[in-house]
Amino acid sequence: MTKFEELGLQDSLLRAIQDMGFETPSEVQEKAIPILLSEETDIVALAQTGTGKTAAFGFPLIQKINADSRTTQGLILSPTRELCLQIANELKNYAKYENINVVAIYGGASITDQAKQVKKGAQIVVATPGRMQDMINRQMVDISKIEYCVLDEADEMLNMGFYEDITSILSHTPNDKSTWLFSATMPKEVATIAKEFMYNPKEITVGSRNSGSDSVQHEYYAVSGRDRYLALKRLADANPDIFSVVFCRTKRDTQSVAEKLIEDGYNAAALHGDLSQNQRDLVMKSFRTRQIQMLVATDVAARGIDVDDVTHVINYQLPDEIETYTHRSGRTGRAGKTGVSMVIITKSEMRKIKSIERKIQKKFEQKSIPTGMEICEIQLFHLANKIHNTESNNQVEDYLPKIMEIFEDTSKEELIKRMVSVEFNRFYNYYKNKRDLNQPKDSSEEQSSRRGSNEHSTRYFINVGSKDGYDWMRLKDFLKETLSLGRDDVYKVDVKESFSFFNTDTDKKSLVLAHFTDFKVDGRFVNVEESTNTGGSGGGKRRKDGGRKRRTKDRDTNNDNSRRRNRRSEPAEASNGRKKRRSEGGERFRGRSRRK
Ligand code: ADP
Ligand code: MG
Repeated sequence: MTKFEELGLQDSLLRAIQDMGFETPSEVQEKAIPILLSEETDIVALAQTGTGKTAAFGFPLIQKINADSRTTQGLILSPTRELCLQIANELKNYAKYENINVVAIYGGASITDQAKQVKKGAQIVVATPGRMQDMINRQMVDISKIEYCVLDEADEMLNMGFYEDITSILSHTPNDKSTWLFSATMPKEVATIAKEFMYNPKEITVGSRNSGSDSVQHEYYAVSGRDRYLALKRLADANPDIFSVVFCRTKRDTQSVAEKLIEDGYNAAALHGDLSQNQRDLVMKSFRTRQIQMLVATDVAARGIDVDDVTHVINYQLPDEIETYTHRSGRTGRAGKTGVSMVIITKSEMRKIKSIERKIQKKFEQKSIPTGMEICEIQLFHLANKIHNTESNNQVEDYLPKIMEIFEDTSKEELIKRMVSVEFNRFYNYYKNKRDLNQPKDSSEEQSSRRGSNEHSTRYFINVGSKDGYDWMRLKDFLKETLSLGRDDVYKVDVKESFSFFNTDTDKKSLVLAHFTDFKVDGRFVNVEESTNTGGSGGGKRRKDGGRKRRTKDRDTNNDNSRRRNRRSEPAEASNGRKKRRSEGGERFRGRSRRK
């Protein structure tokens, strides 16, 4: 394995690298750094998000800057304010043992302050194209002597319509500079830039480390257009400790979805270009510290944001450009974690899924929006586990005798029942009569599934799950063997962490239920009950194809996340206060309490 020492970096940078804890260079760094250090050349480097592109251009840039001169020698253009700041901060870290000034210039903050900083002598300027153009026009910055120009996230800058700004900015730079273009994807606009503004560029392409790799699972949910928001809520409710970025297409949708979520009691916030810099910083801070669980964002605003541990990316609407989908899903499954990218679509958008699949070379799973009762069950067990895993607080000791008195006449069983009811009731009351949101494939199936859902197929709950070593295949095999059933008789197996669901045809119901009375595995009772959830696709709906197709989709995708979620949620949620009750029109739901 190559080491940083072998790339030709000077000692001061190697020390800084060590301080940052980077051990080995990433692929794009390994490929780009030696080239950029050893020759003056233009370069086009393609690598997915999260592969360490900042350091791939940042290290060589710092090394090449002449610290004794105050002239601006390096310009980095990047699409958003957040990224600008992120890059500038990284560069300052890299250059901590050098005497190099890095200044970030971006919209939404005082232009005179930024001009002052530049004037003090900024060898490196990191800028958004819009603000850069402004400052050039007002002669607040001089880039006529730069030697290096980096176009970071070039695809995104062009997506955002910065083509003209970029060409105009470049026209103020010397012809003999080197241009380094970094991008996750190579749409034709980027190729055009490379062709028109770069001279014989070297090309580097790096196999993905993150996006498009196996760390992200892709799922889609077909609903009718007017049910998008309800579907979003259900996806959130079915994943109690979700930590997600929700993508909308426009600022307006972003704002309104976030507002609705907040009204409905979720810890959500909007991130888009109409917010002030201050507001955006606050939102990002709350997201990083997990006070916000659902960040509703436009593509532009969320671009490049480097937050690990995002469990779900939710595409509230599909983007217009397929490339954008790659960026979105790259927000999860980072840093060795796994993640899920969910897409809410309408029937007419189905073909887009196909084109995305071709592009990313990955298959989507079609999944069903959980039914209300499935969500209630998930929440119930989530709660039970949470109570079970809560460390008791010694502070309550003093009050215990009095509290014991109150519950003197209550049995343990009754007590537990009431305890979980406190929380469960909210979900139950909200969801008890809610309809199925899933969009049937065609109307004949819709009819047959509606008519037949409760009679033909039965959904069960079983108290074993992934933590007992089951995945959907193992559980299905176990059920088939235990019940002596055929290979297509058990279907829609959905394994959660400590419990699971499955279906059989209703004519097998008495067999199934009878078999699991007093049934033990390894001395532990395995309990099967008819799931309260009988309606809808999550419940009884049996596809005409005998469930065969669907079963391939039943793989539990949440195991990893729920483990993470549980860990994260335990301490923080102990102090929850319940919150506001809502009663506006439409579907509504009293706020589920998130830590504030
Ligand atoms: P990209 O621009 O390709 O999306 P970034 O430059 O933002 O990726 O890097 C993503 C994360 O990886 C950052 O947190 C960065 O500090 C970290 N990183 C970069 N290079 C390395 C390395 N060689 N070893 C460990 N972490 C690294
Ligand atoms: Mg980057």
